[in-house]
Amino acid sequence: MIATVSRRLAALIASLSLSAAVLPAAADTLVVYSARNEQLIKPVFDAYTRETGVQVKFTTGDAAVLIERLAAEGRNSPADVLMTVDAGELWNAAERGLLQPVSSAKLAKNIPAHLRDPGNRWFGLSMRARTIAYSPARVDAAKLDTYAGLAGPDWKGRLCLRTSKKVYNQSLVATMIAALGEQKAEQVVRGWVANLATDVFANDTQLLEAIAAGQCDVGIVNTYYFGRIVKERADFPVKLFWANQGAGGTHVNISGAGVTQHSRQAAAATRFLEWLSAGPAQEHFAAVNMEFPANPAAKIDPLVQSWGPFEPSLINVAEAGRLQPAAVRLMDRAGYR
Ligand code: FE
Repeated sequence: MIATVSRRLAALIASLSLSAAVLPAAADTLVVYSARNEQLIKPVFDAYTRETGVQVKFTTGDAAVLIERLAAEGRNSPADVLMTVDAGELWNAAERGLLQPVSSAKLAKNIPAHLRDPGNRWFGLSMRARTIAYSPARVDAAKLDTYAGLAGPDWKGRLCLRTSKKVYNQSLVATMIAALGEQKAEQVVRGWVANLATDVFANDTQLLEAIAAGQCDVGIVNTYYFGRIVKERADFPVKLFWANQGAGGTHVNISGAGVTQHSRQAAAATRFLEWLSAGPAQEHFAAVNMEFPANPAAKIDPLVQSWGPFEPSLINVAEAGRLQPAAVRLMDRAGYR
C-alpha cells in the first residue's frame, strides 16, 4: 500500500518536473485578459510578436467577469496580464490580490505618477478624458466652466447624462468626491439630475447624437466617442469643452494593465508593459482609439491634438477605485439612475 502510494508520488513528481522542464518554452507566449476591445489591442499585440517573437494570446470580456475568472482560477490561471478600460477595475483587482507589484524603472519613468498605482500593481497605458460636450449653436461656451457648473440654473432641462451604472461616471463622481468632499459632490449630482432634459443614455455616442439632434444642449462624454463621430462627419454640430481648467483639471481615467498575481512569467509580462509604455507602441495604443498617450513624451493623434491642450486632473486615478462604492451610493441617493 505504502509502496504503491510512494510509486504514485514518484510518478507525480516526475511528471511535475517534466512540465517544469517544459515551462521555459511557455515564456514565448503571454496571455492577456482584456476588457479593451479586440480591434484596439490586436494590431498592437501583433506588432509586439513581430518585434520580439513573443506570442500574445488574449481573451476579451467585461472587466468584472475577467476579474471573477482570475479569482476563480487562482494559481491555475493562464493569465499573465489583466488589461482594463477604467482605473477602478484595476484598483478592484489589486485590492483582491489578483495583481502583483512590479518594480520597473521604465514604467515609473514613462507613466506619470497620477496614472499608475502607488503600489506598482497597475499602470495606465492610455489616458482618457471625460469632459463637457455642447451644441455651439445653442450654447455660449463662455457659460461653461466646470462639471459642478452643469448643476446650475442655466442648464435646467438642457443636460444629457449617460447612466450612472457605467463605471466611467462612477469614476468621475468618485474623483469629484476626492476633490470637493462628499457633501458638495452630492449637491452637484442632485443638480445634474434636476437639470436633465431626458432619461439617461446607455452610451456616450447616443448622448452626443442627442445633443446634435437638439434633444439637449450639454452633456459629459469620453472624448474618443466624439472623435469616432467627427472622424466620419467633420460637420457634426457638437463641440468639446475642457472642464475644470484652473479648477483642478479635467477628469481623466486610464486604459491600463497589471501583471497577474500568479503569472509565472512576471519578468516577460513586465517587459511587455514596458514596451507598451513607450515609442510607437504607446502612440499607436492611444491613437487607435483616439485617446491620449499616457506617456507625455509620446505623440498625440492629429485629430485628438486638434481639440487643443488641456489641464488634466492630477488626482491619482486610484481614487476612482477607492471612492467608487461611495460614488455609487451617492448617485443612488441623488436619484441619478
Ligand atoms: Fe469606452
